[in-house]
Formats: sequence, structure tokens, C-alpha cells
Amino acid sequence: MEIRSPRVEIYADRIAYNVEYLQKQAAKNNISLVGVTKGVLADHQILDAYLKGGLDYLGDARIQNLKRVRDYGFSGKTLLLRAPMYSEISQVINFANVSLNSELDTLKLLDEESKKQGKTHGYIIMVDVGDRREGVLPEDVKSFVKEAIKLENVKFEGLGLNVGCFGGVLPTTENAQILIDLKSELEQEGIEVPTISGGSTCGLNIMFHNQLPEGINQLRVGEAFLIGNDSVRETPIPGTYQDTFRLVTEIIEIKDRPSQPEGEIGKDPFGNVPEFPDRGIRKRAIAAIGKQDVAIGSLLPEDEQVTIEGASSDHLILDITDSDHNYKIGDEITFDMEYGAVLFTMTSPYVQKEYIWDSI
Ligand SMILES: *Cc1c(COP(=O)(O)O)cnc(C)c1O
Repeated sequence: MEIRSPRVEIYADRIAYNVEYLQKQAAKNNISLVGVTKGVLADHQILDAYLKGGLDYLGDARIQNLKRVRDYGFSGKTLLLRAPMYSEISQVINFANVSLNSELDTLKLLDEESKKQGKTHGYIIMVDVGDRREGVLPEDVKSFVKEAIKLENVKFEGLGLNVGCFGGVLPTTENAQILIDLKSELEQEGIEVPTISGGSTCGLNIMFHNQLPEGINQLRVGEAFLIGNDSVRETPIPGTYQDTFRLVTEIIEIKDRPSQPEGEIGKDPFGNVPEFPDRGIRKRAIAAIGKQDVAIGSLLPEDEQVTIEGASSDHLILDITDSDHNYKIGDEITFDMEYGAVLFTMTSPYVQKEYIWDSI
């Protein structure tokens, strides 16, 4: 059954360009990049773009995606970006060469399983430098590492940080410096720290401003490759393409109707009480896509005279009153996509994917 809409047009050649360009820039700063695939379900054509751009180390938060990376035939290194669940330890050893960790008990399980499978698994200890999501607190790192390195079948690869995800803490020279200081403390005790994993896309922005402290030698990057943007600081990454994903939907209804609901107002299916100002009679279009498929707040109509009024699980409500374009039922209507929209649509089975390799 072939259904053409809704679909995401993926400009894979531009993604490959972004990867190659950023790899070069990072190399100049002695930083190696891990290509993060979680935003796109480790999609195989996007993996083509990543490898074409020269990545040889891939990371994902979900073990199913790392398996997909292996099924694709990727023979480089893989990194699990979330601390392993107890229930996935054997898959972690099987599909990931390295994982991010912050619990000794989990490391012990990884150690036992590594021995069982005859593999060596690496681990990076996450340090909470202020974002208050995951990680060992800086003052506890030394004793934590000293315990961890007693485990013989897993290998300490270094320290990592994450910012800009939960607490909204911005990446700065200062919070990255915490890891550099911990590294020298550990080295004074004779413990080598080969990798300092200094965050995600938002770290690249600091790198471009030459403010990433000397010693950060790895960044884990998804968004910058995929859409050339840093959503934490809401700025484009210099030198990259941003127009890499485009959503195409189809209009299934157009009607003039009052902008304000009539009747007693209760909660919508997502637990919110909707509120709409009275703007009189408006020309409304419905596009056949909804909250089940896409993060509405991350969509931008390409027709700037169209506004998104809201959505239910299967209907996207558009106001087309002010548009110069004469929309008809059956027309396609397109949207630029931010990271959140990419993430949802790429993981929705209801959204078709169309790959474009000859756009540059
Ligand atoms: C998602 C994720 C990344 C990549 O973040 P981007 O903003 O897409 O570059 C890096 N590290 C961890 C731990 C992640 O979960």
C-alpha cells in the first residue's frame, strides 16, 4: 500500500555535507565526534550520509538503534548514550563497545557480562556539572573511579558531561573545565583518562568561539549534523545546512468557521484546557497529520502567512485566512522542521520518508 503523504523529505546529501564539514572543524581542534543516531531511529540512509561524511564512531540512547546500526553493517565503534538498564545488560555488551555510566552496581553487572561474552566493554563516567540530570557529583568522582577500575573486564575510558537537556544549564567554559580539573586529579593518582566527552551539539558552538577548554577531545553530536542548529542557544551552526528536513502534508478540509469554540470547555486528550481568542470568522484548513506523528511546536509553515492554531492526535489545524495562496482540498502544504519535529516524524510509522541525494 503506497501512501505518499504525510512525508518527510530528507536532504541526505546536505546531512553528509554537514558531517564532513563539522568533522574537519572538530579535527582542527583535536576533537573527535561521535555521530548520534537517536533522532532518526538509526535510519539506514541517514547512516549512509553519516559514513559518507566520515564518521567512524556512532552513538544512540536506545539499544534497539545500536542493533540497527550493527544490522546496517557498521563495523566502527558504538556508544550507548544512556546508562544501561539492568534488563538490557547482555544486549549492551553485545551491541555497544562503550556506554555512559554513573552507577557502580550497573558497572559490576557489565563487568560480569563482559567476562561471560568474552568482550571488553568501555565506560565513560558521567559527571553532573550542574544540569542536574545524570551523573556522579564532582566531589565523588575520584572515589567512584577508584572503585570502578577494580573491575577487570570493563575499561575506564574517561569522563563525560551533559548540559542543556534537563535543567537548561548552558554549556560554558567553566562547566567543561570541571572535567579537565578532575582529569588532572585522577592523573596525579596514576589513573589515565583518555577521553573527555564534553557534551553534545551545544559544545560545538563553544568550540567555534574558541572557548572549549583544552583537553575536551570528544563531542557527541546529533542535531548539528541533522539540522545544522543548536536548539539550546537557538542559533545555527556556522557553515552548515539547516534546510535538511521538510514535512509535506495534505489538506483534507477547508472551511470558514468561528475561531472560538462554542459550548462547555473541558480538557483535551492531552490534559490541557484549550483557550482561543475570538478573532471572528477565519478560513481554516485541516492537514492530515497530528500530535501522534509530530511535535507541533517544532513545525514552521513555509508559507509565512499560514499559522498553526493547534492539533489533535490526527488533525493539524491551520489558519490560512491571510495567505495569498489559494489553497484547495487535496493540496500539499509544507513545513520546515526543528529537531523535535524531526525526532517525532522519523519515529512515526505513519510518516513516509523520501530521500534526496542530488540537492547540492
Ligand atoms: C542526545 C544526546 C546527545 C546528542 O545531542 P544533540 O543535541 O542531538 O547533539 C549527546 N549526548 C547524550 C547523552 C544524548 O542523550
